[in-house]
Amino acid sequence: MMSGQQHGPSPAGILVASPSKPVKTNCWSCGDMRAAHFCQHCGKVQPPAPVDYFTFFGLPYKLYLDTANLEREFYALSRHLHPDINANRSAEEQEWSLQQSSSLNDAYRTLRDPISRTEYLLRLQGVRLEEQSTAATEEARRTGKAKKQVVPPDLLEQVFELNMQLEEARMNKKMGEPDRSLDLELQDTKKQLQAKYDGMIDELHHAWSEWDALVDRAEQGGNVLEDDRVALRDQMLNVLNRRNYVRNLLRDIDDVLES
Ligand SMILES: [Zn+2]
Repeated sequence: MMSGQQHGPSPAGILVASPSKPVKTNCWSCGDMRAAHFCQHCGKVQPPAPVDYFTFFGLPYKLYLDTANLEREFYALSRHLHPDINANRSAEEQEWSLQQSSSLNDAYRTLRDPISRTEYLLRLQGVRLEEQSTAATEEARRTGKAKKQVVPPDLLEQVFELNMQLEEARMNKKMGEPDRSLDLELQDTKKQLQAKYDGMIDELHHAWSEWDALVDRAEQGGNVLEDDRVALRDQMLNVLNRRNYVRNLLRDIDDVLES
């Protein structure tokens, strides 16, 4: 069975920097060569091009990002694209301004946060995080498909025990007989899980370095193995999935301790 998904661009095509991608066209108004979002010559806002958030900011697909610089770019672009600035222009220009501003805000919000930036890049790479939401659970129940939420192997034992403790603590509280020592155990488990959670950021940063090196190599025309790209992508996906899983456990513990 042929699937379009399996025949994507070569690894270099997926990795290589976006700045070259937006097609340079002439300004609709003055005919000069224009920037992606507004004309540097006459200042007029341009029709939006459907581009990803990295490309919107003219950034390569890298994960280490100078957020101070991103912020400066954001404010600079805001000044040109803001609907108020284009208020006395034609209805069409005002519409473009609205669309461009909205993309600008979405792009900025997504890229400035390290986790959402990573998630977004992974989505561009064709993979999504496991759904942890109630909606996903309901959907799984409805369709009879197993929900894609796997207990991280290194947590299997701890999760099993934790779930029993949580169940017991919930029961005790319901009966109005809180168990102080059980709460202390839960607090202890929480501390361990919190440390694990915090440590995952280091793990993620390590993968970021390797990923960025891969992008650099691809940009310089070097050979990038598809296996390397996929392995790094999946490694980051795995860290984020485990991180979400642990975050949910921490939330469950808090719920019980605070009830
Ligand atoms: Zn122009």
